[in-house]
Amino acid sequence: MRSSRPSPAPAEDLHARLSARIAALEDRVRRLEARLLLEGRKPPPVRSRPSVSAATVRVGRARPRCPGCTLELPRGRRGESCVWCGFVFAAVARRPRGAAAKTARKTR
Ligand SMILES: [Zn+2]
Repeated sequence: MRSSRPSPAPAEDLHARLSARIAALEDRVRRLEARLLLEGRKPPPVRSRPSVSAATVRVGRARPRCPGCTLELPRGRRGESCVWCGFVFAAVARRPRGAAAKTARKTR
């Protein structure tokens, strides 16, 4: 509701600015909430209690690496392509063993 006054009071101007800011913040909160929802849906990481001191050996299980840039892929965010270089995993991941042997000798 906007009153059509000839000269808007500074308070109204401030109010307009604040409401714009609030709208932006609300949008941000909504996005964060959606993100939290996505995180919450995932099963919690099963934390097996390490018998050995885990302080020194932190990299017990190797994370999947990108075949393109050989960087470790971040946990939980494994998409169809590498987040670092954009390598498409489907190019190498779903290849059956038989098909991989391209230079196989023909048995016929
Ligand atoms: Zn990569």
